[in-house]
This record gives sequence, structure tokens and C-alpha cells, in this order.
Amino acid sequence: MSLRKPMIAGNWKMFKTQTEAAETARRLVSLVKDTRDVDVMVAPAFTALAGVAAEISGTPVTLGAQNLFWETEGAFTGEISPAMLVAVGCRYVIIGHSERRQYFGETDTGVNRKTAAAIDAGLVPVLCIGETASEREDDKTLPVLQRQLKKGLDGFTAEALASLVIAYEPVWAIGTGKAATADIAQSVHAAIRQWIETNFGNSLAKSIRILYGGSVKPNNVKELMSQPDIDGALVGGASLDAETFSQLICYK
Ligand code: PEP
Repeated sequence: MSLRKPMIAGNWKMFKTQTEAAETARRLVSLVKDTRDVDVMVAPAFTALAGVAAEISGTPVTLGAQNLFWETEGAFTGEISPAMLVAVGCRYVIIGHSERRQYFGETDTGVNRKTAAAIDAGLVPVLCIGETASEREDDKTLPVLQRQLKKGLDGFTAEALASLVIAYEPVWAIGTGKAATADIAQSVHAAIRQWIETNFGNSLAKSIRILYGGSVKPNNVKELMSQPDIDGALVGGASLDAETFSQLICYK
């Protein structure tokens, strides 16, 4: 039996004003208040973090941010530091989401620096990796993931990565309604865990949580979560509605 506690995380992207986010969080809390066997995280926009933090305080729902900058402070207009996220109540931070890589020039080197800064500040990084449709068609899925992991985690020790969460998010499955099949996701997750074992040892490989992301919905969550190497889900669209998201959280 796996010792890894399942985690269901919601990425609210650039949706919801602070009022809307707080309302969704309040409704979500009322639906999942007795959940103890799954770690639940919501990642609203920066402007909604404080309001959502107030709603989820003392509940099983925890707070994450969608990005951060690696410097501690300074003249970096528009950026948010790790300490600012901690101060507002974040426990998690999503790093290297494919939308940031695609639209905002996020590189593996930047992902590496952000991961280090998050860990230094005591945040749990949720490191996103994933191949595009054309990379999959060209049989490059594993080389692409290995490159993202190698560069993203370069210079870390296994001890430093003890809290790290990896999210495997095939780009072709994000927001498309075409989730990876449970078999495909499981085989990629097993390969990621194997890579962790080869590079960071058996102990981290056994304990690290690897989430699947990409069109997770109430009708496919159970099959995905029944795979031995899938430890949770990072959810976009289906996390925006509290009722739907609560069905994912209560997938058992
Ligand atoms: C995501 O953006 O991380 C994601 C998985 O989105 P969706 O669930 O909408 O595919």
C-alpha cells in the first residue's frame, strides 16, 4: 500500500475576482470540511489569495499560488516574492506550468531558481512538466520530461526535495477535454518515479507525490487515481466550480 497521501489541487488560473474566489472557497469548504484522507489545495490569482486564506483557515483546504519570483525583494515590478506568499498563507506554489512556459517565456533554468527559492522559503513546490502533442507524436515524451526534470532539479539534494510535488501535465491534455488514458498516465508516472530513483535514490522515489493534470473530470478521476504511481491530480477547469471540484476531492 502506498504511503503517499493523495493530493487534489485546483489551479484557478486567471479566473475569479477576489469576491468570486472567496465565495467558491467558502462553498468548497462546506462540501469537503470532513475530508482528512486527501490533501486539498486551491491556487487562486494573487489578488484573491488573502480572501481565500480567510475562508479556508482552520479547514482541510490549503492555499497555493500559481507562480513566484526567485528574488527575496527588490526592484522587480510586477513580481511576487516567496516570503510574500508565505505571509499571505500559502503552503504550495505551482512552478513551471505549461502556460507560463508557453506564454511567458518560463525556462527550465528559471524553474530551477523558482524551485530553490520556494524551498528556501518553506513553500512546497508543485513542479509542472509535460510534453506537447508534437513532442509526443515524435516519440519524445520521455526525453522532454527528463530534460525538464534534469534542468529543473539540477543542484538539489534528495533531502532538499523531500517536500517536492511533481505534476505531470501533458500539454495536449490541458483544457482540451482529452485526458491521457489511465494507462498512458500510469506509464509516464512510473518513468518519472524511475528517473527520480536513478537520480535521487529510492527513498525520495518512494515518497515523492506525482500528480496527473490534464482534463481531469468527475468521470475519469477514479480510474486515474487507481493507478499505483498516480498520487493525485492538478485540476484546471473542473476546479472552478465548488460542487464539481468537491466530487474530484471525494473521488473515493
Ligand atoms: C491545468 O491547467 O493545470 C489543467 C490541468 O487544466 P485542465 O484541468 O483544465 O485541463
